[in-house]
Amino acid sequence: MTNSTPLLLSGKEVAKSILMRTRKQVHDALDQGQEVGLCVLQVGECEASSIYVARKESRAQRLGFVSTTLKLSTDISEESLIEQLHRLNTNPFIHGILVQLPLPSHIDEQRVLDTIDPSKDVDGFHPINSGLLSQGRPNFVPCTPKGVIGILNHYQIPLSGQHAVVIGRSNIVGRPMAQLLEQQNCTVTVCHSRTSDLKSHLLTADIVVAAVGIPNMVRGEWLKQGVVVIDVGINRLDDGSICGDVDFESASKIASAITPVPGGVGPTTIANLMENTWMAFQRSSKG
Ligand code: NDP
Repeated sequence: MTNSTPLLLSGKEVAKSILMRTRKQVHDALDQGQEVGLCVLQVGECEASSIYVARKESRAQRLGFVSTTLKLSTDISEESLIEQLHRLNTNPFIHGILVQLPLPSHIDEQRVLDTIDPSKDVDGFHPINSGLLSQGRPNFVPCTPKGVIGILNHYQIPLSGQHAVVIGRSNIVGRPMAQLLEQQNCTVTVCHSRTSDLKSHLLTADIVVAAVGIPNMVRGEWLKQGVVVIDVGINRLDDGSICGDVDFESASKIASAITPVPGGVGPTTIANLMENTWMAFQRSSKG
């Protein structure tokens, strides 16, 4: 069965309003002589990381943040990196800290993330922030799942009582995504690489969030008519183009609403990073 054209869920629209609001707040603070500082740590020169870091810095500067990037050598020791983080934790001019992932294999990523002061953890990856989120008392919420909820709310997609299937259980996307959807009163199923018969779960979903990292994996014939599809995946193909985890062409024949890739979830991630940094500043100034 085919569907009429689905509603295209534009993350760009949602991101725009977050960015405009944050820009105004940051400029109001500047008018009162207060600067909001964000520091991004990048270890090594991985091309994808360099692109992401440059985008974050440029966006932050355009909003009026004082944004710095610390580029550290790929062979930096874990201890030296931890030392850098301790310095940033106690620097009163830095309100938000983020470490660009992935880190080189000789560094214990979790130990590094655990070192960031939770009150400056604008990515929301520190165990204290993950724990608060899992208890339904969110402090800093990871930017990508926060963006998904922002898109669903912006387009007034009903969530309460809906069956959401999240594919992926990473600490960065899948797990916090499932928690947020459950807190919005969805009934949530989490699928992962060991899930048997993924298709049978997907066919019962009112909302599907795909956060896997496999190009075009989810096909229209795995979906229920009228489903809302959120594609978190960002996959670069051999020809240099970008695609999601959902096969857009077949899925959009079945879905009632769907995010494109690019232009879907991606733009909201960076906007939420900016908003989280503003929140870190605001909370620090309230003491
Ligand atoms: P991870 O690799 O950390 O996690 C992938 C998840 O997918 C794992 O839980 C894994 O299961 C699951 N998985 C792998 N293969 C299958 C399969 N065949 N069937 C079902 N589940 C499977 O990735 P991330 O969570 O960091 O990112 C996921 C995607 O989202 C990537 O494409 C990434 O580029 C994108 N992304 C996009 C962002 C944005 O701004 N739009 C931001 C962050 C990520 P298991 O746990 O069993 O290994």
